[in-house]
Amino acid sequence: MPDDFEDLLTANREYAASFDRGHFDGVAHAGVAIVTCMDSRIDPLRMLGLQHGDAKIFRNPGGRVTEAALEAIVLGVHLLGVERVLVVPHTRCAMTVSSEAELRERIGSAVGIDATWQRFHVIDDQLAALHEDVRRVVSHPLIPSTVQVGGFLYDVDTGLLDHKV
Ligand SMILES: [Zn+2]
Repeated sequence: MPDDFEDLLTANREYAASFDRGHFDGVAHAGVAIVTCMDSRIDPLRMLGLQHGDAKIFRNPGGRVTEAALEAIVLGVHLLGVERVLVVPHTRCAMTVSSEAELRERIGSAVGIDATWQRFHVIDDQLAALHEDVRRVVSHPLIPSTVQVGGFLYDVDTGLLDHKV
């Protein structure tokens, strides 16, 4: 059977051939959790000087602190060694440049069916959203005040993080 994923599976076999990280635990070894955007320009571990096993990473469009992100952070803090949480949206994010209606229109016309029922959670004011997202983590009843929480804007053109909150 032809496999649409064959190129990736071939690469995976090469990866596994020299794989030496078996029996590794799932703890965040640097005590870090990162909530960031799904954007392919972001390399969450390398941008912080971290490596395999160091951090818990939760990604979604825009890098928002959603209910699912909070669920991940609570688990990370209590079960997986997380002591610092970084919320990292970025410059030139697709979620900040289009309106909900524009995204629905573009995707609806690409597929040829109505897409007005699909939510995309676009971001009107990125800095206000970052403040709100950091507040959601800090004020969560199951996340103790000993956990450090910061909001940062990642510049996809310079690679620099700007500590905003
Ligand atoms: Zn983005």
